[in-house]
Amino acid sequence: MPWRSAGFTALGLLLLPGAALADDRPPPELPSGRSAATPAVTAGRQMIVTANPLATEAGRDVLAKGGSAVDAMIAAQFVLNLVEPQSSGIGGGAFLLHWNAEAGELTSFDGRETAPAAAIPDRFLGPDGQPMPFTDAVPGGHSVGVPGTLALLELAHRLHGWLPWAELVAPAIRLAEKGFPISPRLAGAIADSRTGLAEFPEARAYFLQEDGPPRAAGSVLRNPAFTRTLRRIAAAGSAPFYQGAIGEEIVAAVAGAARNPATLTMQDLADYRVVLRDPVCRPYRVYRVCGMGPPSSGGIAVLQILGLLEHFDMAGLGPTADGMQVLVEASKLAFADRNLYLADSDFIQVPVRGLLDQAYLTARAQGIALDRSIAKAEAGNPPWREATLLAPDESDKLPGTSQLVVVDAAGNAVSMTTTIESGFGSRLMAGGFLLNNELTDFAFAPEENGRPVANRLEPGKRPRSSMAPTIVFDRAGAPVLLIGSPGGSQIIGYVAQALVAILDWGMDPQAAVAMGHVLSRNGPVELEADTEAADFEAALRARGQEVQVKPLNSGLHAIRLSPTGLESGVDPRREGAAAGE
Ligand code: GLU
Repeated sequence: MPWRSAGFTALGLLLLPGAALADDRPPPELPSGRSAATPAVTAGRQMIVTANPLATEAGRDVLAKGGSAVDAMIAAQFVLNLVEPQSSGIGGGAFLLHWNAEAGELTSFDGRETAPAAAIPDRFLGPDGQPMPFTDAVPGGHSVGVPGTLALLELAHRLHGWLPWAELVAPAIRLAEKGFPISPRLAGAIADSRTGLAEFPEARAYFLQEDGPPRAAGSVLRNPAFTRTLRRIAAAGSAPFYQGAIGEEIVAAVAGAARNPATLTMQDLADYRVVLRDPVCRPYRVYRVCGMGPPSSGGIAVLQILGLLEHFDMAGLGPTADGMQVLVEASKLAFADRNLYLADSDFIQVPVRGLLDQAYLTARAQGIALDRSIAKAEAGNPPWREATLLAPDESDKLPGTSQLVVVDAAGNAVSMTTTIESGFGSRLMAGGFLLNNELTDFAFAPEENGRPVANRLEPGKRPRSSMAPTIVFDRAGAPVLLIGSPGGSQIIGYVAQALVAILDWGMDPQAAVAMGHVLSRNGPVELEADTEAADFEAALRARGQEVQVKPLNSGLHAIRLSPTGLESGVDPRREGAAAGE
């Protein structure tokens, strides 16, 4: 396998093997195979974990050259755009948590896509006035939000980059030009989405063979259009994208889409801004856990779950049916609040402090019992809610996203979740990369019973996300854990369970990310099929839970930091890799 190059081994760096593929999951995402044995990687001073070995290698090289965590993240993101194109890239959006070790400062970067000026609230209603099926809304131009990832990379580099920008784009240029072997996971995703990709000429030509079958794993894929795009970006930063030739290609692709053409203008691109926001943080036992605030619901929901769990002896309960009962009940309560209150806080009032308030969560925790279950939790009434109550958005979303975590030699740390929404996003390509379908993260129905929905589509607004890049700190304020995952709204459950596994159950990061998933999104309990999680079915049913056993497709990536060094967690359900030194 090309990523296990001799050079890599000679430097004393370890990589984890790719995940095996299964192929029986409906589009757009493929099912999660599991690699058999996934040993943790340990390192002394710096480490990167991404969803693809080539991206990890690019980030590792940057760290080895003395680059910062942000530098490594940038090199890895450009490579991910090429080798894991179905999940993230400059055609999409991202949330980044950045720990500046010297300043002792945590910042969150909001590079979420925005709705173009022409996007109106009823865009996703059908001719009958009813929400259109999700699968009709995804493909083509009308789901494309103004991308934010490239602007985020550039701003992060301006603030925290040490190596020259062009050097960070170079690994992706090299791979795009000379070609890279299609990974098993990408091949599976292409095969899975073949019909949808065939609807769009650029995606068809790039991902499918000339006579129609999907390109196979191991075949070499070159991307001349992306090479051109990356060269422009290496030379001139984000300007050609937001104000120039690449932008024109995006505008033309959205307007000329074979399906669902729409209007996204050069002005929309020029107006795009990354927003530096305060992260949301809360104590959890002896730790302080920090995440991404609105427009993501991820950070607040994870913190609410932990705030509810704090009223139980999770360490004493352990990963038993009782422990899982408490976890899923807390998740239901958090999801009820999330669905009602969370959306873009630049457009609606979000009671962030109230949702995380100690007394509020203590009162909410009274609703959790070990021996009986809440069928469906109601949203609570948090303090400090000044807003007019809007209507909830309970919609479910299909995942296509990537998580990367990095620590550099100076102790700076990055946790980033990056996305184009569904697998292959809108399927539309411009400049050799895929454009997102992030606008389908808005509620399709703009109002419910005459009340506007908080997460309705509005021009300039950012769709509600579930992404939950997370950093955990110890009492002294030093980071001890970086984590996050793809997985649509299941991200919240994946991250919450892994945090409990590490912080309460004493598991190491690798065991925690590999553990079978148990979650609830205020509906049935979802147990991961073919894992130890499925063994909880009878015990949870006996407590009155409705239970579904099914494949659950996380991509949890983690680094634990301790005085003795760094330790990775790489989700065995994907083909990620860790490297450090
Ligand atoms: N678009 C989703 C969100 O922002 C993420 C999708 C995924 O995780 O795959 O919540």
